[in-house]
Amino acid sequence: MSKPSTKARTLLLQDAAKRADKYLDGLDRRRVAPSRRALAGLSAFDRPMPRSPVDGGRILSFLDTKGSPATVATAGGRYFGFVIGGALPATLAANWLAGAWDQCNGAAVLSPAAVKIEDTALRWLQNVLRLPSRASGGFVTGATMANFTGLAAARHRLLARAGWDVESRGLFGAPEIRVVVGDEVHVSVLKALALLGLGHGRITRVPADDQGRMRVDALPRLDERTIVCVQAGNVNTGAFDDVIAVYTRAGASGAWVHVDGAFGLWARASPRLAGLARGFEKADSWSIDAHKWLNVPYDSGIALCRDMDAMKVAMSVNAPYLQRGGGREPHHYTPEMSRRARSVEIWAALSNLGRSGLADLLDRTCRHARRFAEGLSEAGHEILNDVVLNQVLVRFGDDETTNRVVAAIQEDGTCWCGGTVFKGSAAMRISVSSWATTEGDVEESLGAMLRIAKTVAALPRARRAAKKRR
Ligand SMILES: *Cc1c(COP(=O)(O)O)cnc(C)c1O
Repeated sequence: MSKPSTKARTLLLQDAAKRADKYLDGLDRRRVAPSRRALAGLSAFDRPMPRSPVDGGRILSFLDTKGSPATVATAGGRYFGFVIGGALPATLAANWLAGAWDQCNGAAVLSPAAVKIEDTALRWLQNVLRLPSRASGGFVTGATMANFTGLAAARHRLLARAGWDVESRGLFGAPEIRVVVGDEVHVSVLKALALLGLGHGRITRVPADDQGRMRVDALPRLDERTIVCVQAGNVNTGAFDDVIAVYTRAGASGAWVHVDGAFGLWARASPRLAGLARGFEKADSWSIDAHKWLNVPYDSGIALCRDMDAMKVAMSVNAPYLQRGGGREPHHYTPEMSRRARSVEIWAALSNLGRSGLADLLDRTCRHARRFAEGLSEAGHEILNDVVLNQVLVRFGDDETTNRVVAAIQEDGTCWCGGTVFKGSAAMRISVSSWATTEGDVEESLGAMLRIAKTVAALPRARRAAKKRR
């Protein structure tokens, strides 16, 4: 294929920018979940790979016509499912430019610019999250890989202390490590433990309280062969484990404390919320998402560790062709070698928001969450959690009615919320994590929730059952 002319490239990139802008403009007016028609349109992709080259403009047009309508409007202001952020315009623009750079962020020699930006972003993160100055780390795809990276460092350190070189010898015949988690541990921690050969079936699960916090009084004895995984921000309730009590129990035992702080750790960047996340700076490793509450494009997470030697031994590789610079080599701190320059958007978000803007984003989304809780509770619906952060759990009568309301809200399209089971009861989760959510979005969505809950409750049971069968 011949190289496209400069003119053709210019037109193509401008077309992409125009289409993207139009897409974002349309988010306010469209349904949050794609329509049935848009979903049916996806069958257009069921065709064979072209025999010969196709012009970039035609590909883009096809992608926009068939793909855009079938996306979920998570970039808009009325998506409250899972824990999903949007993308601040400054981060999207930075992402486009970094896409044009096409830097491989694995080694300093491959991209001095990306490495400099990474170093700066790490320094700022450590500072804004008020973590120890020794703590540093790497940029990964998300909190799952950040949990994996932090726990790999923990595995290294604990076994090295026992005289076992796990990177070289593996786990066969290794001294045992005990892993302690709260009963409401996020599944990504379990996955990371499985990937690391630590097994998610041989862990100690500590019972959780009514907000999903680890009950510290039920912690087993901790020692230098124990990893304790604590949570900053329960995925259902937003609650924080009492990490200070965990340290009190751990004493000087040498237990490694790993924090799954995917979204909750950001609370430390807001003076209003910081009290919730007190004490987490004393941990040994931290997992944080940037694509959730920091509102950068997917995918983006950060693995931080106090013991950088442990992290480096767990992650680094060596080969004669890997030319070393004098500074920090990014691939020594992440599972990946080649990867995109994720720190660019994180740097752009922190630059764009500044300290006050970041605190405002965090506070504002929490305020929206409280407004949802207040409006739903006033209408007589049961709020299951203490709304301390950006998460709300609501129940609409019994399990069956709750599930039907969730399904009807998703079908209605004004907003989108997911269902969950909390303490054995069906509930709807509302997570407000996007910079794009306005007060208007909250009122419109709340109005839809209340209207739909009323309609569903008014449907007699028999008719509901019949409808289900149809
Ligand atoms: C989202 C989340 C994860 C997993 O993060 P990914 O970015 O999806 O890998 C882990 N822990 C908690 C508490 C989360 O909310």
